[in-house]
Amino acid sequence: MKKTRYAVRNLSLCTKDCLCLYVCPTGATDTEDSIIDRDKCIGCGACADACPSKAISLVPLEMPLPQPKTEAVVQALDVLTSRKVATEQAARSIAGLTESDTLYKLMRAISESSRIMEEDLMRESSYMLPQSENARAFLQALAANPPAADFPVGKVEELLAMMPFQGESE
Ligand code: SF4
Ligand code: SF4
Repeated sequence: MKKTRYAVRNLSLCTKDCLCLYVCPTGATDTEDSIIDRDKCIGCGACADACPSKAISLVPLEMPLPQPKTEAVVQALDVLTSRKVATEQAARSIAGLTESDTLYKLMRAISESSRIMEEDLMRESSYMLPQSENARAFLQALAANPPAADFPVGKVEELLAMMPFQGESE
């Protein structure tokens, strides 16, 4: 049977009762670092069925393509996102100027919530926002060693300069 999916374990949900270790036919769940061995996993789903904490999910090997959207929907998402960006910038600006602790906290809350909504809107528009440390390391590696002569190193550097990564508040 062709493998179409593999298991991943959410460590924050795992209560370590080890039922997945007993049922896995390949030993993929039994690893030193608790990360299920993707190469050994055959995607049977026995571990996910057995896990009492719902800590294991099955992820498709090939992610489905996003739903196509009409131009009108994409434009509406663009407008909404732009408004949220403007709100975030205004709130950040006020937070930077005010001497009131209460107003500062309110503006920070508004800017953070606007940022979260912008990110949701971008995802709704089918853009991915890779903001993890891994993504940063990957982008830095591409900028340092471009895979082709016409690779857009400048765009990668722009992304690195523009995007907040995990642990950065701005
Ligand atoms: S069965 Fe679930 S809770 Fe138990 S060790 Fe496996 S992943 Fe963790
Ligand atoms: S899906 Fe099957 S092979 Fe993969 S880790 Fe779970 S029990 Fe093991």
